[in-house]
Amino acid sequence: MNDLKLKIRSIPDFPIQNITFRDITTLMQDGEAFKKSCDLFYERYKDQKIDKVVGIDARGFVFGAVLAYRLGVGFVPVRKKGKLPFHTISQKYDLEYGSSEVEIHSDAVMKGERIVVVDDLIATGGTVSAAVKLVEALGGTVVECAFLVELPELKGREAIKSHEVFSAMSFDGE
Ligand code: AMP
Repeated sequence: MNDLKLKIRSIPDFPIQNITFRDITTLMQDGEAFKKSCDLFYERYKDQKIDKVVGIDARGFVFGAVLAYRLGVGFVPVRKKGKLPFHTISQKYDLEYGSSEVEIHSDAVMKGERIVVVDDLIATGGTVSAAVKLVEALGGTVVECAFLVELPELKGREAIKSHEVFSAMSFDGE
């Protein structure tokens, strides 16, 4: 996994002081690394009887959509408030400063469907927890939450401890 990790660019003090932004665009723009990352997710879920992939706005759309295509299942976006045009349900969550809200179309997941939730990165776990609540509110079963990158110091797994979490790589105090 180290070869993939080397493709991630770290930007100090972005978007604010003392945050190191893990920039996955450098991995995505490298064809081999991008394919390897997508294949990794596919191999993990290909035999899990997944019904749909839920991707989180916005970088989760990239990896989530590729996974859905390869599994031959539907893709569902969880978006920031105000972007989805049909009936939605929404979930607020706390950020380090302030709060945010995400939404899903109310007809996007059926009762009993087996779902993988995908995002590029798990930090505090607030965003994915909100996405999981939306999926479950519609009656879906979250099989696992999958990320390219995990920041273990921020204890995202604890925020979502009743669910399985998979990450392809982690940055721990680096
Ligand atoms: P959280 O809700 O704290 O787990 O944050 C996860 C969301 O914020 C993901 O959609 C990430 O893309 C983004 N994010 C949070 N921290 C970082 C970081 N250090 N580098 C890049 N993206 C981040």
